[in-house]
Order: sequence, then structure tokens, then C-alpha cells
Amino acid sequence: MKTIAFIGLGNMGGGMAANLVVAGYKVHAFDLSEAALEKARGSGCETYSTVSEAVAGADAVVSMLPNGAIVKSVYTSEVIGKAPKGALFLDCSTIDVATAREVAHLAEEAGYTMVDAPVSGGIAAASGGSLTFMVGGTSEAFAMAQPVLEPMSKAVIHAGQIGSGQVAKMCNNMLLAIHMIGTCEAMALARKAGLAPQKFYEISSKSTGYNWSLNDYTPVPGVGATSPADYDYQGGFASALMLKDLGLAIDGAHDAHAKVPLGEHALEIYKAFVESGNGNKDFGAIFTTL
Ligand code: NAD
Repeated sequence: MKTIAFIGLGNMGGGMAANLVVAGYKVHAFDLSEAALEKARGSGCETYSTVSEAVAGADAVVSMLPNGAIVKSVYTSEVIGKAPKGALFLDCSTIDVATAREVAHLAEEAGYTMVDAPVSGGIAAASGGSLTFMVGGTSEAFAMAQPVLEPMSKAVIHAGQIGSGQVAKMCNNMLLAIHMIGTCEAMALARKAGLAPQKFYEISSKSTGYNWSLNDYTPVPGVGATSPADYDYQGGFASALMLKDLGLAIDGAHDAHAKVPLGEHALEIYKAFVESGNGNKDFGAIFTTL
């Protein structure tokens, strides 16, 4: 496999495509944004003016797009039938499980192999080649996907059948939202009840309260691990993106008849925060509301 078409060169896709170039792949890149295309050329990608041109002659197509509606439209109108028969499709966007399964089904009917391969890790991990990929698809498809994903990753995990990568992603990010809010509440309560947040961090990060939000991404300025909280909640993982991921999790829970009361509550909390104009702030900024 030598030529990869890369569709969606934004905050995440730009760095991922650059890592494929470094690994020796010929990367045919497309994005709607001219600025993103220019950056991709600077990283060694060949850029194209349509998706169809970018995927022609590609052994694999990687996409990193904003949502499921765009993924479905790009694949059905410009990838399926335009990429060479037998090509491997890897959608790394975070989208709903149903759309991931539907697009993969359409691709397979047309003679392609597809995996869903959403990621954990933000923009720094995308440019640093240290994303975790959770992959849904057959064992054969996973084996084909591994050499494409490895240059962009610190871990590539086969989650199960098609759509399972998106299931893992929605469950992981719902859990992340819940422990971030819990961590913020505990920090605020400690302070208001007379315990310095730094002292609470020292104790709880070594007690049963430890968790990633507390230990590795402490959402309180000047306390614990360095995080976006120390930079006025700039950079990091935007609250608007967390709200998008919670929406996917709640919809997925309804489809699966699963009860997620804390997930629903977390969605309400992030919805109010984003609607108050805080969508660009890191998701740890929920601390400032407490
Ligand atoms: P982004 O908005 O920076 O990039 C998306 C890119 O897709 C943009 O450059 C846009 O121009 C392009 N695009 C939109 N429609 C297109 C189309 N029809 N054809 C070609 N290009 C098109 O978003 P991002 O932060 O890079 O996120 C991409 C995906 O990765 C999302 O699904 C997001 O949920 C997921 N994700 C993001 C992060 C993060 O920290 N940013 C982390 C994990 C997963």
C-alpha cells in the first residue's frame, strides 16, 4: 500500500496526514479550506481540487471530518465508485454508530473494505503521531488498516465488528465528561469547605478519587498537573466538541436501550456552558461555573 487519499485536513487531519508523509506514503490530500490545503502542501502532501480526484488511484482513503452527515455525503457522492475497487477506507472522524455502519455497508456492497477508526488524543497527539485508534471492522480489515494507522498512533486497538470503534469512543468520552465534572465539583467543594485545592489534589490523586481529569489534566489553575486551566482554558479539548460527543453518546444510548442518567446530566451541563458562549474553552473550564 503506497498511496493514501486524506480527506479533511483540519486541526486533527492536518497533523495526521503529515505523519503519513513522514512514514513514506504518497498522500493525496483534499479539504474545502484553501488554508488547510496550503498547510498540507507544506507537509509534503499533493493536493487536489475535488475528493474524486484525490481518491483516484489511492490504495487507501483516510477521512477526518466534522460529523456523520458530512462523512456520509463525502463517501456516497465522491469516494464510493471513484476510488479503485478493493481500496481500504478508514473513517477516523467521531460520528454516530448508525452512520458508521451504514456507510461501511454501502462501501462493502460496492467492493471496498472499510473500518471505523475514531481516535483518542487531541491536536498535539495528532501532530505528534501518538493517537490511540479504536478500530471497528473484520479481522482482515483490521490487519489491512494497521500499517496505515501505525505512523499516526501510540496504540491501535481492534474493538470488534464495524461500528465498534465508534461505540468505544462514545462510551469513553461520556465517561470522560462525567469524571471531569465530578473532579471539578470535588475541587470546588474542597475549597469552599476550607481545604486548599492543591492539598486536596495531593491527597485525592493518591486515594480512591484518582482519575485522569484529576491526576493528568487538573482543571484548576495552578493546581496539580499542567493543563489548559493554566492557560485560561485555551487550547485542549473544546467544550463544543465534548457537547457533540455527549450528544452522540446519548443518541447511542437511546438506540441501545441503555440507561445513562449521569451522561444525560453531563450533556445538560455542557449544553448550558456552550450556549453561554464558552464553546471554544477547554472542557475543564466547567470548573469556573462552580
Ligand atoms: P476541524 O474542524 O479542525 O477539521 C475538519 C476539516 O474538515 C476542516 O478543515 C474542514 O474544512 C474539512 N471539511 C469539512 N467538510 C468537508 C468536506 N465535505 N470535504 C472535505 N473537507 C471537509 O475538526 P478537527 O478538530 O480536526 O476534528 C475532526 C474530527 O476529529 C471530528 O469528528 C472530531 O470530533 C474528531 N476529534 C477531534 C479531536 C480534537 O481534539 N480536535 C479529538 C478527537 C477526535
